[in-house]
Amino acid sequence: MSSIFALGIDIGGTNFRMGAVGGDGQIQAFTRTSSSIFSHGNATQILKDEIKSYLKNSGFEGRIKAAAIGIPAIVSKDKKKVYSSPNLKGFDGADFGSFETEFGFPVYVDRDVNFLLHNDIAKLGLIGETTVLGFYIGTGFGNAISIGGRLYSGSNGVAGELGHVPILDSTDVCTCGNVGCIETRCSGKALEALAAKYFPETDIKKVFKEHKTSPVLQKFVRDLAIPIATQINILDPDCCIIGGGVVDMEDFPKEILSDSVRFYTRKPYPEKNLTLIFTKHDQQSGVFGSGDFALNEYLRQIGNNITNK
Ligand SMILES: [Zn+2]
Repeated sequence: MSSIFALGIDIGGTNFRMGAVGGDGQIQAFTRTSSSIFSHGNATQILKDEIKSYLKNSGFEGRIKAAAIGIPAIVSKDKKKVYSSPNLKGFDGADFGSFETEFGFPVYVDRDVNFLLHNDIAKLGLIGETTVLGFYIGTGFGNAISIGGRLYSGSNGVAGELGHVPILDSTDVCTCGNVGCIETRCSGKALEALAAKYFPETDIKKVFKEHKTSPVLQKFVRDLAIPIATQINILDPDCCIIGGGVVDMEDFPKEILSDSVRFYTRKPYPEKNLTLIFTKHDQQSGVFGSGDFALNEYLRQIGNNITNK
């Protein structure tokens, strides 16, 4: 068993999960509960109390070197503040600055998709790859960028909002408040609207299984390739990872999506050397991604301190 641990915290729209991620890559004391505990009262204080009781009950009190919190939200560059959290209203504007002093170890907060990409890079052994892009089609269109082994966060910390790139001639209003965002067409929400309109009798989970030849669904999948190819054409990545709840659905036509990404990608390069990998996440992926990220940051910090001495 590893002797060094970081706390991975994954707060999704539905589930709230925690675990102690070891230097050996194993998760100890994994817990899962409903995110509804954050709907009433002060969400930040509730989270603090949850972490305290987790540390006490799991036996990891005094053994955690760092923690990271993944949340479906827009987060500041210093990874301390939440700018906007439409799916978890309790964390809208939340400030995590006091966590570090209170717990006595560094606490990083970041977009959940960044930690999913960190998870995928570690699990797929892509550590040496210089540019890796993550496309996660769930409720929205999630995107994360890793360049030179580091998650790219941009000037304000909000890079990777590919779902909010505007489409020509669209007047659809997005949940972000802008008009014409690609997420209004390319997301789980958009798929739900299509399914309700064209296949009201079908359980949404079975929509690809039962209607795989439908032109409406095939167009939906081909359209998903447009934002993906857009970012590939801009960044010429070493590897692209595609996942998320929509892609995980039964009989989702991955081949149509791969072919369409290649169709829209510039020839001869980056199309010629394009690597597309479909990934599947489980309940622990977000916890591993955040915990392993925190552990790496801690080790980097120690390394820096040793170098500076
Ligand atoms: Zn938008």
